[in-house]
Amino acid sequence: MAGVQTAVELRGQGWRGGITLLGDEPHPPYDRPPLSKAVLLGAPGSDPVDVRFDVDFGALDVELRLGERAETLRAETHELVTDRGTVPYDRLVLATGAYALELPGTECLPGVHPLRTLDDAVALRPVLEARQRVVVVGAGWIGAEFATAARQAGCEVTVVEAAPRPLAGVLPASVTAHMRDWYDEAGVELRTGTPVAALEPGVVVLADGSRLAAGAVVVGIGARPATRWLAGSAVALDPAGAVLADDRLRTTAEHVYAVGDCASVPSARYGRRLLIHHWDNAMQGPRTAAANVNGGDEQYDPVPYFWSEQFGRFVQYAGHHSEDDTMVTRGDPAGPAWSVLWLRDGLLVALLAVGRPRDMAQARKLITRSAALDPVAAADPAVPLKSVAR
Ligand SMILES: Cc1cc2nc3c(=O)[nH]c(=O)nc-3n(C[C@H](O)[C@H](O)[C@H](O)COP(=O)(O)OP(=O)(O)OC[C@H]3O[C@@H](n4cnc5c(N)ncnc54)[C@H](O)[C@@H]3O)c2cc1C
Repeated sequence: MAGVQTAVELRGQGWRGGITLLGDEPHPPYDRPPLSKAVLLGAPGSDPVDVRFDVDFGALDVELRLGERAETLRAETHELVTDRGTVPYDRLVLATGAYALELPGTECLPGVHPLRTLDDAVALRPVLEARQRVVVVGAGWIGAEFATAARQAGCEVTVVEAAPRPLAGVLPASVTAHMRDWYDEAGVELRTGTPVAALEPGVVVLADGSRLAAGAVVVGIGARPATRWLAGSAVALDPAGAVLADDRLRTTAEHVYAVGDCASVPSARYGRRLLIHHWDNAMQGPRTAAANVNGGDEQYDPVPYFWSEQFGRFVQYAGHHSEDDTMVTRGDPAGPAWSVLWLRDGLLVALLAVGRPRDMAQARKLITRSAALDPVAAADPAVPLKSVAR
C-alpha cells in the first residue's frame, strides 16, 4: 500500500525521474484489509475477491519489479542489493510493511496459519469451505475478524487469548467487557488468560492443561516491522525493529525515507513516537514522503485512524489515548451503536465508535484541531459531537 501510494504521489506531485517499485511478493500490489474479511468468504471454488490496486503502473511510467527481495542497503554508495542484483538510487523510500508474528516453534507445523498476505488468506479459504474446527490464537483485531468470517462460514471457533481480555493492550477493561459479549452472541468460545503452551498435530494445548481439538489454527498475535534486512545499515531501527523516521519521514541515512507499517514517527500532537499499523497511515504518509523527496519540507503528524469489521459491527478508532485521559461514553455499550471518547485537559484526543460513523467523521476533524469538548454534553448520543465543541 505505502509503496504504491508513494509511486502514485510522486508522479502526481511532478517527479520526473524514473520510479522503480520493488516487492518480494509474486502478486501485483494488493489491498490487505479484505484478506481478513471478504477474501475468506468467497464462494467455494470461486476466484478470491480481486484485491489488486486499481493503478496503471505503465501509464504512470513506474517500473514494477515483483518477486524481488531487498537484502542489503549500502547507503554510503546509494545502492540497494536485492536477490537479483544491485539497484542504484538517488532517493530511496522504504515501505516494507510488517510481518505476522508466529508462535515460537510452530513455523513449519502443518495446519497453522498466519494471516498477513494474499497467499495466507487463499490458504485459509479451504479451511472455511470445509467448515473445519478452528482455534484462533489472539483476540486482537485480526483474530476477531477471522473468527467472524469463520463463524459465518459455519466453522466451530474458539479464540484463545493470553491476556485477561480481548484487545487488552489497546482499550480499557470497561470497554472490552462489552466486546466479550460479541464473541458469545456470535457463538465463538473466547478463552482469556490462557496462553498456548504447545501445538500438537490437531490439538492446541493451553497453559492450564486444556486440550482443544483444531482442524486448523490461525495465529493473530501481532506484527512487527519487516526490517531485519536493514540491521547494520545506516538506517537506525528502534528495539522493536521500526525504522526511526523523523517528522519529515526521513531516516538516519541520507536520501532514504520510510513510510507505512515499517516505520515509527515522532508525533508532536501526542508527544511520543508512534508506530502505526493501519491502512490510513500507509495511505497518508506517502503524500508527505513524496513531497519531501520532491524537495519539499512537510511535517507528518497524523491523527491515526483505523476501522475493523467484526461480529456484524463496524468499529472505528481515531487518535491516541492513554490511561490518564478522561473517558466519556456516548450511548449504551450493550447496544448496537455507541462511542467512547477520551479528553486530555478537556481537549478531544481519541474516539472509538461502534456503529456510529457520524461520530467518527466529526471526531476526526475535532481531534485534528484539538477541540475542547463539554464532557457532559458529549455524553448525550443524541447531540452531534460537533455541536458540543467549545
Ligand atoms: C489481514 C489484514 C487485515 C487488515 N485490515 C485492516 C483494516 O480493516 N483497517 C485498517 O486500518 N488496517 C487494516 N490492516 C492494516 C493495513 O493493511 C496495513 O497497515 C497496510 O497494509 C500497511 O501497508 P504497508 O505498505 O506499510 O505494508 P504492507 O502492506 O505489508 O506492504 C509491504 C510489502 O513489502 C514487501 N516486503 C517486505 N520486505 C521486503 C523486502 N526486503 N524486499 C522487498 N519487498 C519486501 C512485503 O512482502 C509487502 O508486500 C490489515 C492488515 C492485514 C494484514
